[in-house]
Amino acid sequence: MQSLARLLEGQHRDLRRRILTLLSERRFAASPGLPREEYRELVLKWCRALAREGLGGLGYPAEFGGQGDPAAGIVAFQTIAFHDLSLVVKFGVQFGLFGGAIANLGTERHHVRYLPKVASLALPGCFAMTETGHGSNVRDIRTTARYDPKSRGFVVHTPNAEDRKDYIGNAALHGRTAVVFAQLEVDGERHGVHALVVPIRDARGNPRPGVRIEDCGDKLGLNGVDNGRIRFDHVRVPRTALLNRFGDVGPDGTYSSPIPDPSKRFFTMLGTLVQGRVSIAAASVSASQSALAIAVRYGLRRRQFGPPGGEEVLLLDYRTHQRRLLPAVAATYAMHFGVEQLIADYARAQTASKDQGKARRQLEGFAAGLKAAATWHATETIQMCREACGGQGYLAVNRLAALKADTEVFTTFEGDNTVLMLLLARSLLTDYRVQFEDMDWVKTSRYLAGRVLSSLQEATPAGAFLDVLFQAVPGRGEGTDVRRREVHLEAFRFREQHLLAGLGRRIKRVLDEGVGSYEAFERHGDHAVAAARAHVDLMLLERFSQVAERARGERLKDTLGTLCDLFALSRIERDRGWFQEHGFLSGGRSKEVVKAVGELCAELRPKAGDLVAAFGIPDAVLAAPITVQG
Ligand SMILES: Cc1cc2nc3c(=O)[nH]c(=O)nc-3n(C[C@H](O)[C@H](O)[C@H](O)COP(=O)(O)OP(=O)(O)OC[C@H]3O[C@@H](n4cnc5c(N)ncnc54)[C@H](O)[C@@H]3O)c2cc1C
Repeated sequence: MQSLARLLEGQHRDLRRRILTLLSERRFAASPGLPREEYRELVLKWCRALAREGLGGLGYPAEFGGQGDPAAGIVAFQTIAFHDLSLVVKFGVQFGLFGGAIANLGTERHHVRYLPKVASLALPGCFAMTETGHGSNVRDIRTTARYDPKSRGFVVHTPNAEDRKDYIGNAALHGRTAVVFAQLEVDGERHGVHALVVPIRDARGNPRPGVRIEDCGDKLGLNGVDNGRIRFDHVRVPRTALLNRFGDVGPDGTYSSPIPDPSKRFFTMLGTLVQGRVSIAAASVSASQSALAIAVRYGLRRRQFGPPGGEEVLLLDYRTHQRRLLPAVAATYAMHFGVEQLIADYARAQTASKDQGKARRQLEGFAAGLKAAATWHATETIQMCREACGGQGYLAVNRLAALKADTEVFTTFEGDNTVLMLLLARSLLTDYRVQFEDMDWVKTSRYLAGRVLSSLQEATPAGAFLDVLFQAVPGRGEGTDVRRREVHLEAFRFREQHLLAGLGRRIKRVLDEGVGSYEAFERHGDHAVAAARAHVDLMLLERFSQVAERARGERLKDTLGTLCDLFALSRIERDRGWFQEHGFLSGGRSKEVVKAVGELCAELRPKAGDLVAAFGIPDAVLAAPITVQG
């Protein structure tokens, strides 16, 4: 179905096609089972080839070797993620994290000096934030950058063994320079986490004086990326090494910042690095698409069992097989359109003439939530696809093993998923604060706790709320209600609002006991994560439903509508215990949902091949012989 493929290609169709043609060339052919050292060199070679094609700096400003198109930078990353995932991660470390930190935290002097060399890969670099002792909690990292007024420079130092930089991509072998995050200290006063450009290797590739580098060694996956650990022993860098967009030290040793509040400064700085999360969400969708393309195509050619005397049956004709694969296809479409929206929001924020506080905060929240949702979805989907391909799926040559091993850690880097969902929940509480002017999230929790909506719903006997809801939906027809889009949207909104209000109520109860706000929130972290997940689901459904409604052509509209319904109903089915507990679904309605999911799968079965073909992954890039007849 060409119209579907065109829709998925989106606005950067030519770029996607150009990259896929490039990745289909023989020099990019997959080589499963390469020894680690050879694999790392091959990935570097591939990265250099992509840089030569001008794909490294698409998002950087044109005057510094880029094309000034932030969305194109992420679409390139998303497309490369159909290929080897070590390549995409190495690509992301160099051009997204290392280059992105210089672009977003530095000023013109850094852009002029470094960005063209980063974009061409003449200067391979690292993004050195995490320490052995501090991963998610970046605010408390311990590496120091002390200003020395005599030499007018900084001294970068690792105080203790657990303060070494850890897991740093590109550090073990290829990185020459690192953006190092450290506590900035001027004249005995701490100014919080800042970033500096620190050379770590000389022109021959040897560690510079005072720098000690170790290899992290073999990992569960992504073994084409050279992760390493770095220690600094009083390493001196000039004053201008400080990436000084949000904080600077003058030659006289005076610290200044456009954001005086240290906490706000810290979050603003980290917020500018949102690109990494958007990119990982996008890459996770590509990985899910690859896995589904393999499993569905295999399911359309592999036969097992059959009626006595008859032909054996195609795997995808089994209802269980449809039930496993097709809801995942539908959810992957939902994620694809969600990511497309996220990329557009990100590009808009990057090119906005002035910072639009609320829009930026919402972007950061959506990026955190979608990164978590898309990476969890990829992990689950790839596992399920491996099982759906039986023993064939376990062979390295058929790609699923690598997809599984390499995406596994997407749930952890660029922000651990649980930590990100907690961040999103806090941000959702803050949205109410913005609505009600100067309320902080503690006051917000009190407000939410008293919401009329929640008490109305809690007082409603099981099943009755659904009936109220259905009556509110015009044109309800018996037996078809469960497939109405309005009902799906109401269900998702109800769950999000209810969980958020419940979170407020629970936090308030703890606050009323005299417990501090930090602990009050943490005590209900599980509830907060559920609220955040419900919010992401709602965003995805709203977006998917919009795309389906706006689609041109009956056939396309119909296919997207069915996929969207399957996404919504399979999510409700998965959480039907909750919907029943909270009076949204009666037992009977719940059974209708289960039945409808099965029916939708059967409806989509004849289109299954087209649905995965529309992902547009060439065979040479998919690189899974299992998908080809023979
Ligand atoms: C392959 C790979 C590549 C990487 N590349 C880089 C790189 O190039 N540069 C870089 O700087 N870093 C890199 N990292 C580090 C990565 O960013 C960190 O691993 C990540 O931030 C998580 O930190 P952590 O591993 O210390 O886990 P922790 O923060 O210790 O988390 C461990 C567990 O505790 C839970 N947890 C933590 N805090 C809370 C909380 N408040 N509430 C509830 N639960 C909580 C988490 O959910 C998680 O399950 C890389 C990591 C990997 C695995």
